[in-house]
Amino acid sequence: MSTRCLSPAEVTRYSRQIALDGWGQEAQEKLKASRVLLAGMGSLGSAVALHLLATGVGALRVVDKSRVSLADLNGALLYRERDLGKPKSTVAERRLKEINPFVTVEGQGKTITEHNVHRLASGCHLIIDTLQEEHLADLLNLAAVRQRLPLIHARVGEMDGRLTTFWPGQGPCLACYLPKAPGNCHPAVIGPLPGIMGALLSLEALRILGGLGPALVGRLLIFKGRWFYFKEERLRPNPCCPVCGFLQVLS
Ligand SMILES: [Zn+2]
Repeated sequence: MSTRCLSPAEVTRYSRQIALDGWGQEAQEKLKASRVLLAGMGSLGSAVALHLLATGVGALRVVDKSRVSLADLNGALLYRERDLGKPKSTVAERRLKEINPFVTVEGQGKTITEHNVHRLASGCHLIIDTLQEEHLADLLNLAAVRQRLPLIHARVGEMDGRLTTFWPGQGPCLACYLPKAPGNCHPAVIGPLPGIMGALLSLEALRILGGLGPALVGRLLIFKGRWFYFKEERLRPNPCCPVCGFLQVLS
């Protein structure tokens, strides 16, 4: 990933992050040069978008075909009452540009399909899946493996959150690990949980894009909100995986 110079205003805007030991202006410039495909602009996606925008990711391509509903306002802090009934992709694009004019935001109000997923991922450095729809997760995983892109995968339901990073050639992909995910794409969820998991997801994205390296390849981080603790499970590559098995042979 090439870097892009920061303007004086951007240096000031991100100064607290740039001052961080191990981060600095070089990592911030890498962040500016990066493009992220963010699938899903519900409560989890909107939390991620807000963090990535505020911290200076250069370009964000947000994909969601749905419209803002009253139930979204319980957890999706990006939206307002006046947005009800409007396409999430359009509202998100406008609002995110207001938050940080230095960042490029591209809203795509479409369904992800096997025909467009590779084009949507093209030119991106990272894919983030917040859709809560497992057949679409499979498509995003396929694009990540084909294009050798890291894929951060998060899910929230009731009071629990799960988060991991799939990186083709470096660890398992989604198809190696078959998640025990809820089949319902609108699960019951406590309001602040998407914000908690969205912040953790964003930190992992910054680590990847800024060059610190991922923390969650081969690790599934689980947050149990009812009892307030984290636990984790090891995820191992499956040598017989039909999606990424060929990469494991090459490595
Ligand atoms: Zn795999």
